[in-house]
Amino acid sequence: MTAPLPRSLDPAPGEVLPGYLLRLAHRLAVAPRDVGHLCGLTTGSNLPARHLVCLNDAQAQQVADVCRLHPAEVHALTLAGQAPGYTALRIDDPGRHQSPTSMANDGWVLTAFSRYCPDCLTETNHVPGGPVWQGSWRLPHTYLCERHNRLLAWQCPACQTPAFSNGYRSDGRWRPTQLIPAPGLRLDPARCRHRTGGGRVVTCGQPLDQRTGPAPRPTPAMTHAHRRLAEAATAGTDQEVTSLGQQVSAQRFFNDVRTTVSAIRGSWPVAREVLADPGSMDAVAAHIDALRRPHPERTAALGDGRVARTFGHPPADPVPAAALMALTVAILDDPSGYHTLARLLSALPATSTVHIRLRQHAPHCSSTMTAVIGRSIRSPQTAAGPLPLFPQPATHRGRLDPRTIPIVLPEHWVAPLDELDAPRRQLLRDAPIRLVQMVTGYSRRSAASYLGFPLGSLHPAADPLRAWQMQPGNAEAYQSALHRVAEIAIAEAPRR
Ligand SMILES: [Zn+2]
Ligand SMILES: [Zn+2]
Repeated sequence: MTAPLPRSLDPAPGEVLPGYLLRLAHRLAVAPRDVGHLCGLTTGSNLPARHLVCLNDAQAQQVADVCRLHPAEVHALTLAGQAPGYTALRIDDPGRHQSPTSMANDGWVLTAFSRYCPDCLTETNHVPGGPVWQGSWRLPHTYLCERHNRLLAWQCPACQTPAFSNGYRSDGRWRPTQLIPAPGLRLDPARCRHRTGGGRVVTCGQPLDQRTGPAPRPTPAMTHAHRRLAEAATAGTDQEVTSLGQQVSAQRFFNDVRTTVSAIRGSWPVAREVLADPGSMDAVAAHIDALRRPHPERTAALGDGRVARTFGHPPADPVPAAALMALTVAILDDPSGYHTLARLLSALPATSTVHIRLRQHAPHCSSTMTAVIGRSIRSPQTAAGPLPLFPQPATHRGRLDPRTIPIVLPEHWVAPLDELDAPRRQLLRDAPIRLVQMVTGYSRRSAASYLGFPLGSLHPAADPLRAWQMQPGNAEAYQSALHRVAEIAIAEAPRR
């Protein structure tokens, strides 16, 4: 047994190991690496970031002995202890053999830096050893502080480096990460620990517990999504949450979240056309635009290094992350979100590497998500017939003046539609939009707007017509009926 420290500290609510060790070291006026070494957490001079994720029982016992804690209190200082429902942390899940090290390198756990709430840091300044860094700030779906009703910060206002990090190398990759950046440095936990590399090393030291401007406010959709995700992350293994109208384990819910994020990004801007704006949609567009640029331009445009270098990782910046998660939860909250997902997944490029990842993910998702992935993602060779939620092709471009298409189609135009057993009211709303698309090539959103439909009424997930279209044969029948309607309209149009 290692000798206990002469003085120790109680863990603060929500705190994780890096913040705890930082406070303890500051209180003892030693470097964090020295405390880490006594606790058995160092490898050579390194303090590995994987300890943030989980500790084995022997490690937890040693930390407990040194810091005068109970081993259960030490396990509670890890993300595995604080967010048991979070998929990425379920290393015992069959099919996901992730070691703590690979999880520490996974963009779905923010191991290289921490988001933060400057107001929370200020409020906990009186806590012995300095302010408290919350563990939940390391989860990519924690993008706001409910207590202060603000989106979190993520960069140091002085050096622009992501907070609680070692920063980037010149090629945009993270410098080697550690549980605590610059672990040999003695510094108040509220201050930026970034040190410039090369020549003379300079520590930034900027206080992060000071506001530098008005706090960015979340929209109601962002706050709602944040609550749903936080509840799922803290759900025990015996608790279920709702995803796509089904009760599922938190683990399957988070796999649905990951799948939906990939689908939204890979098919962008389809989601922008079919979903209500949760706020900051432009930030999502800018994020995805940056992701699509070639490397290394992409790294510079994103400004968040390795974390967001692939579509698989969530944005580091809480603003696009909040909007993206709000869109994601809006889809998963909807019992008929299946249809929206089918549309997004069907719009992914056929050669997309996202396809491969989604197929790997499919067995670990909710059964509804598994089904929609199986149905929507097919190789070009096996895909047959129009997609159930077919984007309307411009098959009649120039053959009919769109100004002659009324928002309510004349009775004798709709005869071919009456032969379908589709929900009639929704069908009669949908058909004129598709007719305008057929003759103009407009997007669905633009066509609806052209006809004068309020855009809020476009939400497809609320539409039983989409459910009908998903049934075998109906998409083909609808397409064929629309062609007949178009021919009637063209035959009747005044000759120019
Ligand atoms: Zn706060
Ligand atoms: Zn700084």
